Amino acid sequence: MPKADKEPHGLIGLSMPLPLESPASWLTRAALSQGETVAALLAHLNLSRIRDFDLAIASEAGRKVMAHCGLSEQFALATKIFGRLKGLGNTGANLLLATREGRPRARYCPHCLLAQRESYFEIHCRFVPWRFCPLHHCLLEDACPHCRHPVVLPFDMVLAGAKNSGVGYLSQCQSCAGALTAAQAVALDSLRLSDWDRTLLKNGRATLAALRDGVVCIDDQVATPLSNLKRLARMGALPMRADQLTADAARQTLAARAASERRPRSQGGTHIFLFGSKYLGKSGIGEEPSHGRSS
Ligand SMILES: [Zn+2]
Ligand SMILES: [Zn+2]
Repeated sequence: MPKADKEPHGLIGLSMPLPLESPASWLTRAALSQGETVAALLAHLNLSRIRDFDLAIASEAGRKVMAHCGLSEQFALATKIFGRLKGLGNTGANLLLATREGRPRARYCPHCLLAQRESYFEIHCRFVPWRFCPLHHCLLEDACPHCRHPVVLPFDMVLAGAKNSGVGYLSQCQSCAGALTAAQAVALDSLRLSDWDRTLLKNGRATLAALRDGVVCIDDQVATPLSNLKRLARMGALPMRADQLTADAARQTLAARAASERRPRSQGGTHIFLFGSKYLGKSGIGEEPSHGRSS
């Protein structure tokens, strides 16, 4: 008779987390590596009744299980970021992408998925304000280009696809099994972005730097408490709206521009402020901060 508090036994061939991988992305791949559903793997790890595995990683139970699996180090950054997010209460919850039904979802860069040896989703793909890929200078995609299904994480790879025959890669749509990499990415250079749009894009990226560092840096100099994210979101200084700076909206704009020859009205925004951008390197959030240094 198993004891209720018994430790889960070790798993053979469990997928290892990839660089900056989100916990929910890893869980999805890890379940496939065991030929199991996510629910079965969570039950084995004594982590059933988890609504959002990314947030659960920062809970006491999540930390214990990761330590048991020997993955604490790999998830140290995720634990820090999602832990700080939880500390922000409702503001933090609103920074995370979710479907209308409240299921955790992610955005993706088609170029990044195509370039990866093994497809996965990075931590920042979960965040509402993170709108563009700094490596490929394109807007992130919200849905499958074939069937418009969102990327909900985690999901059962063994049961995914049109006929529940399963998918082998996270670069495949969980609903139709089509290639997410087929999405025609919208290059930032193809858009007539106002200065304010560009500031919003950079502020969205800097939001992750703030969560990583535990401070909000205004104009790359003044470090203020993380709770300032709430004020910035309320002021509209973070791209929080669902219809704002999205690939689908941009495609519509480009199509309208192509259809008519009228120039769209320029918003002519002014640069109000920008925080934290200097802290972010090409790889996104994985670099050390450079407080006090000029770029
Ligand atoms: Zn990319
Ligand atoms: Zn699809």
